[in-house]
Amino acid sequence: MSRRWAGLALVGLVATAAGRAAAQEPPLTAIRAGRLVDVERGEVRRDQVVLIRGERITAIQPASAKIPSGARVIDLSRYTVLPGLIDCHTHLIGEATAADVLQPLERTETQEAMSGVRNARATLLAGFTTVRDVGTYRAFVDAGLRDAIDDGTVIGPRMRVAGAYITVSTGGGELVGAAPDVTLPLSYRFGVANSADQVRERVRALLNGGADFIKVIATGAVLTRGTQPGVSEFTEEEIRAAVQQAAEYGTFVAAHAHGAEGIKRAVRAGVRSIEHGSLIDDEGIALMKQHGTWLVADIWNGDYIDSVGRVQHWPEEYLRKNTETTEAQRAGFRKAVAAGVRIAYGTDSGVYPHGLNALQLPYMVKYGLTPMQAIQSATLSAAQLMQWEDRVGSLSTGKFADIIAVEGDAMADLRSFAKVGFVMKGGTVYKGP
Ligand SMILES: [Zn+2]
Repeated sequence: MSRRWAGLALVGLVATAAGRAAAQEPPLTAIRAGRLVDVERGEVRRDQVVLIRGERITAIQPASAKIPSGARVIDLSRYTVLPGLIDCHTHLIGEATAADVLQPLERTETQEAMSGVRNARATLLAGFTTVRDVGTYRAFVDAGLRDAIDDGTVIGPRMRVAGAYITVSTGGGELVGAAPDVTLPLSYRFGVANSADQVRERVRALLNGGADFIKVIATGAVLTRGTQPGVSEFTEEEIRAAVQQAAEYGTFVAAHAHGAEGIKRAVRAGVRSIEHGSLIDDEGIALMKQHGTWLVADIWNGDYIDSVGRVQHWPEEYLRKNTETTEAQRAGFRKAVAAGVRIAYGTDSGVYPHGLNALQLPYMVKYGLTPMQAIQSATLSAAQLMQWEDRVGSLSTGKFADIIAVEGDAMADLRSFAKVGFVMKGGTVYKGP
């Protein structure tokens, strides 16, 4: 081929590429919102339009402004439109029942993953477009689910995952119930550590293995046989080892902590969030306020456990510990709210069936938040806790088009969020009116 012909061929190639780029420009969508919740300003605005190009929000404008030609228009003028909700305390892997304590041992890793597929879908369709998933007994199944959602294989929320629990042996994050002389395989005990050095080593193994952040079990648990919620299981030094090692990787620690002493150790050690916080005292509340530690308190599911758990014959020990922590947790939550502790929304889904995550919203109001603050806890604040405020948590230009809608004036009664009528994630509609 002569140089001249080669040059012409090149021009042709460039022209074809330009044509292809124009044809492939991401589609433009306009959502007409009768009510739009601006969680950054804490106000509801009437008659707005959200413009979306591809997977991101490009503009919010009044309904009177012109909608660009060629845009697909979604009419949600009878709806309240909000950013996708975020649950900061989920367990998407496995089956939601505590009736059989050794049940995870009776299931293959594939079965655990497939339950995760179903749970992820239920969570997304309930309006929760992002979750911080705080632990699985079978290590790294959560990371696999996260990746499958990200590459489009599975329908589900955006996930940040813990990989496994950092727990002392026989502690609140262990799969207990087997005879004491039966040793479980490593995949069930991946995060077991009994000294500061072991904690560092396990944190590295989790973060190198694909976890996004670290979950430390600082005290005993309600739904683990033999452990006591009020008892501290790690020393402050051991929790600090997790915090420092996680910080080396640019990430953070979430601490499961029920007992007053365990909460204080975790806060002083520098964890980013306290999970549950059931038996918190005034000193613990003051410390959280001082350190800027987030409280993620699952203040709804105690009622679920007390009713359904009883019918399903969950172990008597679980029901008793649930009774001992539920009302104390709600009282502590109310005090923490009044003291100005940072609150993020987390429900402990997996304790109850996935997809009911919004049922805690009215409880947030019952125990001290305004309806707008409750929604902020599940959007803007949750995104801040997860360190994802650059991409989710509000309807803002440049963020992902993760958008939900509830019919009517949703803010008037947060029970309405049990029926989310529209779900978009990254510009794709998963549920329409
Ligand atoms: Zn949990």
